[in-house]
Amino acid sequence: MSPTPLFTAPSPSAPAPATTKYVLPPPDKLALLISNSKSTKQLLKLHGALYRHNLHQHPSLNFHLLRSYSSLNCLHYSITLFNQNSNPNIFLYTAIIHCLAQQNLHQQALLYYSQLLADSLQPNAFTFSSILKSCPLKPGKSLHSQAIKFGFDEDLYVRTCLVDVYARGGDILSAKKLFDTMPEKNLVSSTAMLTCYAKHGQIAAARELFDEFREKDVVCWNVMIDGYTQHGFPNEALALFRRMLKTKVRPNEVTAVAALSACGQIGALESGRWIHSYIENLGIKLNVQVGTALIDMYSKCGSLEDARLIFDKVNDKDVVAWNSMIVGYAMHGFTIDAIRLFNEMLRIGLKPTDITFIGILNACAHAGLVDEGWRFFNSMKDEHAIEPKVEHYGCMVNLLGRCGQVEEANKLIKNMKVQPDSVMWGTLLGACSLHGNIDLGEEIAEYLVSQNLANSGTYILLSNIYAAKGNWDGVAKVRTLMKDSGVQKEPGCSSIEVNNKVHEFLAGDLRHPKSKDIYMMLDKINGWLKARGYTPKTDIVLHNIVEEQKEQSLEVHSEKLAIAFGLISTQPGTTIKIVKNLRVCPDCHAVTKLISKITGRKILMRDRNRFHHFVNGSCACGDYW
Ligand code: ZN
Ligand code: ZN
Repeated sequence: MSPTPLFTAPSPSAPAPATTKYVLPPPDKLALLISNSKSTKQLLKLHGALYRHNLHQHPSLNFHLLRSYSSLNCLHYSITLFNQNSNPNIFLYTAIIHCLAQQNLHQQALLYYSQLLADSLQPNAFTFSSILKSCPLKPGKSLHSQAIKFGFDEDLYVRTCLVDVYARGGDILSAKKLFDTMPEKNLVSSTAMLTCYAKHGQIAAARELFDEFREKDVVCWNVMIDGYTQHGFPNEALALFRRMLKTKVRPNEVTAVAALSACGQIGALESGRWIHSYIENLGIKLNVQVGTALIDMYSKCGSLEDARLIFDKVNDKDVVAWNSMIVGYAMHGFTIDAIRLFNEMLRIGLKPTDITFIGILNACAHAGLVDEGWRFFNSMKDEHAIEPKVEHYGCMVNLLGRCGQVEEANKLIKNMKVQPDSVMWGTLLGACSLHGNIDLGEEIAEYLVSQNLANSGTYILLSNIYAAKGNWDGVAKVRTLMKDSGVQKEPGCSSIEVNNKVHEFLAGDLRHPKSKDIYMMLDKINGWLKARGYTPKTDIVLHNIVEEQKEQSLEVHSEKLAIAFGLISTQPGTTIKIVKNLRVCPDCHAVTKLISKITGRKILMRDRNRFHHFVNGSCACGDYW
C-alpha cells in the first residue's frame, strides 16, 4: 500500500503556476517566518511557496521546516520531509534525531543515527546532546563510546547529557565519575546528579551537593525538597522549604506539592494551612496536582471538611484526586462517604484503579462490612479487570479477621495467587490471638519465626499463645529466641503541632522544655482516671497491637505525653490532634476516650492504621483497629 501523500504542495516537477511571480524574501527571513509559524496551515503554505521557487531542497530552510513541523506536533511531516531529501546533511540528520528524541522515540532516533554514520557523515556535539536526551541507559552507554570516539565527551552539553543518562539509569557511580571529572559544571548537570542522589535514597550526598550549588533555581530546590519528602524526611523538607522562601526563587506547583506532602506525613495541619494560603497568594493555580496534594494533606492532618472543600473546588479531577478523597474517608472510618464517592466515580465514567480498591476495602474493613467487602473485592476482577494485589488480599484478611472469620481469612491466603507478606500473616496472627484461635495462631507464628519473618509482635503473640495453653517451656523458649534474634522494637513516637511547631514525644520522654508541666498534667489525668475507677490495661500483649514494650510503664506512653502537652498548651475546647507512628495501644485508647469525656475536648489521633476520633468518651473506630 502506498503511503498517503502528506503535502498538498505541488511536486517539484509540476509546472509553476502563473501566480508565483512575486519575489520571495531572502532565506534568512524565510527561516524566521518558518520558525515563527503558529499553525501547520501557515507552515504548509510556506512550504508550498518553497516548492514553487525551487527552494525545497535548501538545507537550512529544510532544517527549520523539519523542526517547526515537529514542534507543531506534526512529526510525521518532519519524517516525510527528511525522507524526501536526496542528500541530507548532518544538520538535517541532527534535526530529525532531535525531534524524535524529544518525543521519546529512541529506537527511531538511533536508526537515523546509524544511517548518518552509514552516509559517512560526522556527528557533532549537538547530534550527541540531541540523541542522548532521555535516552535509556543501555543505548546511552554505546553512544557514550561514540562520543569519546568523535571527541565530544568533554563537551559541556554532551557531558551534561551523559551524566543525565547514567543518573536516570541508576548507575550512580558512573554518573558521579562523569560529573566529578567535568571540566566545568553547570546547573543542569548538577541538578541531574542531585536528582540521581535523591531518587536513589542517597539523601546526605544529595544535600552535600545541593549546598555546593552557587546559584539555585526552582528545579534544584524542588528536587531536594521532594527528595526529602519521598524518603521520609518531612521535617527536613519543610525546613528547606522555609529556607527557600527567604531567597528570591519563587516556588511553583511542584514545590507546593512536595511541601504539602511533607505536612501530611507529620500531620502538621497549621503548616499545611499556611502553605495553602501562601500558594494562593502567590497565584499558584489550583490544578489537579496541587488540588490532590491539598486533599491528601488535609485528610492526613485530620481535616476531612477542608479536604472535601478542595475536592469540590478542583476542576477536571482525575482518578488520582478521587482516590485521595476515597482513601481519606477510609482512613477516618467514614465508610459510607467512601462508598458513596466510589459509586459517584463509577457513575461519571471514571475507571477505578488498584489504589481506589485499597481505599474502599480499607473503608469496609474499618466498619466490619464483610458482605460489601467481598462484593467490592470480587468486582475488581469481574467488572474492572484489575487483578487483586497482596495489599487487597491484606485488606480482606484484616476485614475477615476483625469479624472473627479467621478460618475464612486463612483459606483466602492459602488460595491466593500472590505471595503472602509478613504484614498479612501478622494481621491474621493478631486476629487468631484476639478470637482465641490458638492452634492456627501457633502454626502461623512458628512459620514466621522459622522463615525469619517474625517481628517483636510475632514473638509476643506466640509467647502469649503458649501461655494460654499452659505451655511454659514454650514461653521460655520464645523469650530466648526473641533475645537471640535481636529483634528491635520500633520506638513509639507521638507528635502534636502547636503554634506551627511540631513537638515530638517518645515514651517516658524528658527532653521537652515543658516536661515538668507535662508530667504534672499527667499526674492530674491519672487522678481523674483513678477517681473514675479506671484500671490500666496491662494485658496489652493479648491484643494484636503489641508494638510497644509491655515493661514500659503505660502511664508514660508517647501519646499520653503528647495529649498532656496539648491540654496545657492549647485553649480549652480546642481539638487536640496527635500523630502516632505505631498503632495506638489499648490502654492509651481507653485513657484517651476518658480524657475526651472529662475535658470535653475532641481528640483526633492518627495511628499507623487509621484515624481515631475521640468524642465524649467514645471513639469512632468502635474499639477495633
Ligand atoms: Zn499506649
Ligand atoms: Zn479508636
